[in-house]
Parts: sequence; structure tokens; C-alpha cells
Amino acid sequence: MNIDTLIIGAGAAGMMCAAHAGPNTLVVDHAKAAGEKIRISGGGRCNFTNMHASPANFISQNKHFCKSALKRYTQWDFIALVDQYRIAWHEKTLGQLFCDETAKDIVAMLRAEMDKSGAQLWLQTSVDNIRHDGTHFHAQLTRDGRITQIIAKNLVVASGGKSIPKMGATGLAYQIAGQFDVPVIETRPGLVPFTFGEDRFKPLAGVALPARVSANNTSFDEAILFTHRGLSGPAVLQASSYWHEGEQITVNVDPSAGLFNTLKSARQTQGRKALTTVMSQYLPARLVEFLSGDLQLAGNIADQSDARLQEIADQLSHWELTPSGTEGYRTAEVTLGGIDTDALSSKTMGAKSVPGLYFIGEAVDVTGWLGGYNFQWAWSSGWAAGQAISAR
Ligand SMILES: Cc1cc2nc3c(=O)[nH]c(=O)nc-3n(C[C@H](O)[C@H](O)[C@H](O)COP(=O)(O)OP(=O)(O)OC[C@H]3O[C@@H](n4cnc5c(N)ncnc54)[C@H](O)[C@@H]3O)c2cc1C
Repeated sequence: MNIDTLIIGAGAAGMMCAAHAGPNTLVVDHAKAAGEKIRISGGGRCNFTNMHASPANFISQNKHFCKSALKRYTQWDFIALVDQYRIAWHEKTLGQLFCDETAKDIVAMLRAEMDKSGAQLWLQTSVDNIRHDGTHFHAQLTRDGRITQIIAKNLVVASGGKSIPKMGATGLAYQIAGQFDVPVIETRPGLVPFTFGEDRFKPLAGVALPARVSANNTSFDEAILFTHRGLSGPAVLQASSYWHEGEQITVNVDPSAGLFNTLKSARQTQGRKALTTVMSQYLPARLVEFLSGDLQLAGNIADQSDARLQEIADQLSHWELTPSGTEGYRTAEVTLGGIDTDALSSKTMGAKSVPGLYFIGEAVDVTGWLGGYNFQWAWSSGWAAGQAISAR
């Protein structure tokens, strides 16, 4: 079967690319349905973009690479598409846009865009024996036990990263890159909870509070959540993408810096109360109890000097922790690293060394923050490759 373009992966990036690559396009996926990660994202409502998306919200060895695609297909372009399909949406927090009804509306929209452009979709299809003969790509597809040999001018790798293997993530993109001598930046799980040895935070499981979490000089102010195995919550997930094994993180559980003044005035009005009781008016009581041994929070508040209260506030704003690891790809929302952007054109996503070969979406070494940024990268990179292919 001769086609113009074979796209591997009917996820966010692959479907967006198919909607723009031209009619003679075939999208294949081994999953039962297209856009499964879109369907489950954002608690079923898909945080499909972020109003504040800019290159500063992405992690990559080359921080300039994402600029071109993000500028040419912006969050406003995607919002206009969503509006065109009359999908109602709302801003939840920090510019994060969600569907009012269901993430399935976004999948249906992308399927409709693919149909409009004439792209075909084969699900439950495996891809083997990929090769390039100098001008065309060859691949063997297996669907329903039937084998089809494909010859295509363009091959788009949109098979995502390694996150959540249970949902069909395979790392195929890195394998294909290796086959064509396209370099890959070492991958690691991102937007992932931290784990700590010896059930360290087990007594705190379920406690949530606002905090500032810092890793490698990058800080995020959002909620944190103690879990049976460690630390989670948006601020922790964000910081995890900046953390490397063995490094320390800093947790500031007094991000508004109000603890010292609160304790000082409580000393006037509630002097006979225990220090821990007063602190529990400001912080979750279980956290205060947990820390009371290490921070020696004994005695009444009236017995504490200014210097001592300041010391306590300082300790709580510089809580240094060394995670033993992360929950890994099993729960990571994204994969950091991936196809080395030095090997790709930032305008087309095409491999510089193999004409007609493209890498898009999460497979590429561009990783967004939590908050709709990763889908925006999938839309922008998928659009850039689709445009380039239709013009080829
Ligand atoms: C639980 C969860 C929630 C998320 N929520 C959000 C959110 O709200 N907002 C946001 O911006 N980002 C979110 N993300 C991240 C976002 O889902 C990804 O960044 C995005 O889906 C990447 O798009 P992609 O097209 O590159 O890859 P994917 O969407 O992962 O698509 C890749 C496709 O390739 C297919 N595939 C893989 N290997 C093979 C193979 N060997 N053969 C054939 N097909 C293959 C897969 O089945 C899949 O359909 C979330 C991620 C997770 C895991």
C-alpha cells in the first residue's frame, strides 16, 4: 500500500498532525481507541492548554527549540478550534483551561478534524520492520492478524514517551531514533510523586497544605500532599521535573511568611497555650505533631523568645528533604528527555539527517510544566510537522 504519510501514534500530537498533513495519511496505533491519555487527563475534563503558555514553561536541553512551534500554533489557536466545535471550557486556576463537560469532546474534535482532512485511522495495529530505502519508508503493519506492507514518503513518530506503560506507552520512538542514528537525551520520569524510605511520612498520609517546593533553584507555590509512600501534590509534581536522583529538595510550609508574626501575636493573647496548639491554628495539626520532636516544640508559647519563634519559622520555611526516588513511569505524567532537539528542525520537527522522518509530542526532549503545557506542545509540534508535510 502506497501512502504519503504514516503516523505512528493516535495520541494528541499524532491526531493534530494528521489533521494537517494532507489526505493520503494513515495513522496507526496499537491501542483500542485513539487519544486515550486525552480521555483520562485532567480528571476526565482534559486540561487542554494554558493561557500563559510560553517557552519558559518547558524543560529541554535546548530551551530555544520549542519557541518556533509554540509561536506558530499558540494556545489561542487551539482555543479557537475548541470554540469552533462549541466545546464549553473554563479556567480552573493559573491559566489552566478545562472542558466543562468531558475530555471525550477533545478526542471527538480531533477525530473530526482528521476525517475532514481525509486521514485514515487504524487501531489495534502493530508496526514492525521499519526501514528507509533512501527515498521511501517501509513498514509492516499487522491488524486483525492481517499483514499490510506500507510504503510512505513521510514517517511521523508520535508514539509518546514511557509514562504509564499500562496505557500503552512503549518507548518505540527512542527505538526508531536509534535505528536512524538520531540521538536521544536520557529519559526520566517527570511530574511524578517523590518517595521516601522507611515509610517516613506514613503518619502524615492525606495531609495537604499550600507550600513552596524548590528543586535545582526552581520553585513552585501550590499545594503539597503527603502520601503513604512520600510526597505528591501539584507543587511537588512540578519540582520533580527539575530534580535528579540523590539531590535535595526544599519544602517551605510557610510560603506566605506569616508564621513568625502569627506566633508573636499569639504570645500576647494566648500565652498559656502550648506552642504546638498555637502552631496547629496555622498549620495542619498532624504536621505540627509530626515535627514536634525534631523541632523541639515543647512548652507554652509564652516561654518562647522572639529569636526562638524566628528559628522555628526559619526551619519550617527551609525544610530540606532528600527523596529516595520517585514513583517512576508507573504514575509519571510525562517523560523528560527524549529525541535530541539538536537533531531536529525546530520549524518542521523533521530529522535533519533523514528527509521525511519527523518526531513530535512527548517523544521529543521538550517537557512542559503541569497545567496544560504538555498538550500545548503536542498540538504545536503536531501542527508544525503537519504543515511541513502538506507543503512537501
Ligand atoms: C494521567 C495523565 C494525565 C495527564 N493530564 C494532562 C493534562 O491535563 N494536560 C496536559 O497538558 N497534559 C497532561 N498529561 C500529559 C499528556 O497526556 C501527554 O504529554 C500527551 O498525551 C503527549 O501526547 P503524545 O501524542 O506525544 O503522546 P500520547 O498521547 O501518549 O500518544 C501516543 C500514542 O502512541 C501509541 N503508541 C505507543 N507505542 C506504540 C507502538 N509501539 N505501536 C503503536 N502505537 C503506539 C499509544 O497507544 C498512544 O495512543 C497527562 C498525562 C497522564 C499520564
